[in-house]
Amino acid sequence: MAAKSTPRASSKALVASTKARARGARAAAAGAANRPRGKAKAAPKKPPAVKTPRGWTAAEVEDAFRRFRKANPEPRGELEHVNPFTLLVAVVLSAQATDAGVNKATPALFAAADTPEKMVALGEERVRELIKTIGLFRTKARNVIALSERLIAEHGGVVPPSREALEALPGVGRKTANVVLNIAFGEPTIAVDTHIFRVGNRTGLAPGKTPFDVETELERVVPAEFKRHAHHWLILHGRYTCVARRPLCEKCLIVDLCRWPEKYV
Ligand code: SF4
Repeated sequence: MAAKSTPRASSKALVASTKARARGARAAAAGAANRPRGKAKAAPKKPPAVKTPRGWTAAEVEDAFRRFRKANPEPRGELEHVNPFTLLVAVVLSAQATDAGVNKATPALFAAADTPEKMVALGEERVRELIKTIGLFRTKARNVIALSERLIAEHGGVVPPSREALEALPGVGRKTANVVLNIAFGEPTIAVDTHIFRVGNRTGLAPGKTPFDVETELERVVPAEFKRHAHHWLILHGRYTCVARRPLCEKCLIVDLCRWPEKYV
């Protein structure tokens, strides 16, 4: 049987419930007062202004690439090749060698073997013979055969369109992977070779202590619409205008933008 409520008990309960409500209201008010103002809705972060360490503004970087594009709308690499596989082999052979030197040896090599299967069938000794005018030819011949075997065993004889898979091949590093991804697969990668390393540092466009630093800086500052061809424009600029010994500043397209204190003007 339920206990009967007396008037005295009811009044005690009413006082207790009123006190509890008052405590709750005080706690809520204190919580609101302690909440940091303006934190509830974080303002969207502004992206940092694109500026190179040596002060090229975003507008100047864009201007430079517009000029490169105007002068050469469809720049191309200079390594001879007939398909992604021969491109891969040519880039591997070009390490510490000139493109011109590689191009002298590769026509005969690619006439004999333009697929991984044919390269393996040709054999390391014959490959060595055909590329002996290129520096480090012994190591390179070994790598060409080894990477051909890997392509057959792991990729069905096809050059994989993935950085990770490419860099896992013998003799293939980041720069080679970047060139193959860019030329064979149209990726907006920027492979930093000796020319781009020099141009990036000398001009102040993308200074860095290592090729990877320069690549990272170029990735950051080059506008998306120019990334696909940035590698070729910069390499050609370094190879024919901003050359190592005596840059041809007097005929340079970006002379007014270049930050090199010793430029010939
Ligand atoms: S001005 Fe001279 S140093 Fe500067 S990018 Fe042009 S060629 Fe190179």
